[in-house]
Amino acid sequence: MTDTPAVAAPTVARTDWTREEIAGLFDLPFTELVFRAAEVHRANHKANEVQLSTLLSIKTGGCVEDCGYCSQSVKADSGVKATKLMEVQQVLQRAAQARDQGSTRFCMGAAWRNPKDRDMPAIIEMVKGVRSMGLETCMTLGMLTPDQADMLSDAGLDYYNHNIDTSPERYDQVITTRTMDDRLDTLSNVRMAGINVCSGGIVGMGETRADRVGFVHTLATLPDHPQSVPVNALVPVKGTVLGDMLADTPLAKIDDVEFVRTVAVARITMPLSMVRLSAGREAMSDMTQAMCFMAGANSIFTGDKLLTAPNSGDDNDLAMFARLGIKPMAIDLTPGQVEAQRMPKGCAKLEAAE
Ligand code: SF4
Repeated sequence: MTDTPAVAAPTVARTDWTREEIAGLFDLPFTELVFRAAEVHRANHKANEVQLSTLLSIKTGGCVEDCGYCSQSVKADSGVKATKLMEVQQVLQRAAQARDQGSTRFCMGAAWRNPKDRDMPAIIEMVKGVRSMGLETCMTLGMLTPDQADMLSDAGLDYYNHNIDTSPERYDQVITTRTMDDRLDTLSNVRMAGINVCSGGIVGMGETRADRVGFVHTLATLPDHPQSVPVNALVPVKGTVLGDMLADTPLAKIDDVEFVRTVAVARITMPLSMVRLSAGREAMSDMTQAMCFMAGANSIFTGDKLLTAPNSGDDNDLAMFARLGIKPMAIDLTPGQVEAQRMPKGCAKLEAAE
């Protein structure tokens, strides 16, 4: 599995982590924690390969949810203009560009509370078109009904992103228009439709370490670990609730050491998942990102923008990869093999019934 000698046997993915165990990991001396995470990483993944994903906003702004971190909410005074859903052909052109620039996964995000049934035909055309290019497909469209999840599954969607955002205890201080249980319901619908789950959240929102423990604990004790776990660092945007609260304060950027700790604990507790560095990378040094890769991060978003937030940019990333000797991860699965890996529909339901 690894191109350097493994120092630990491949790990069993436990879903019975306790909060105490996770808090204990966070409390380890920093180098001990990173060392343990690196061991787990090398036992389960190629140590010096990082997956490149591209994220495209297919429908920007005007979202009725009130996520305190988001410039696309109608409640935010951030100057983001609402757009209509992009045309299918435009989306396919952008996917082809991303593939030509080395991305292996193409993620499409729409600023919706949930997709409307009238939107689904275009969404399905996008999934089919991007998948036919040999790219893995991922969508983030808000909450899904079981029927919508089934439609996306039938179209061949590989991943659905739906972040749990933060800890259950802090949830209602960040978002009031939905609950953590709403989030978990959609994740369950996605799992039962046989689509891989991408779910993580944001740190640096003024939360405590106990919240970060609760955030990782929620993900690591789902019936199946999310196959992708994005760990975002808040990018405070003026005009959003959290941006106005935190920008220009010492809390505007999470401490780098605490961020790396969060990545390391995610890696140890979810050993088989892809752990993705997402928003906030542009404010991190190459050295901090290198520590994240050592601690088990193995996926990044490329490009100059992450939906509406600034991102590191392809040239910066290529230069960083060259400095660090990291290789972009190749797609080594054909679409047919990706299909074969998917869980059968209703799998989670069967497990729950056992
Ligand atoms: S994070 Fe998503 S759901 Fe929340 S306001 Fe922004 S676009 Fe809407």
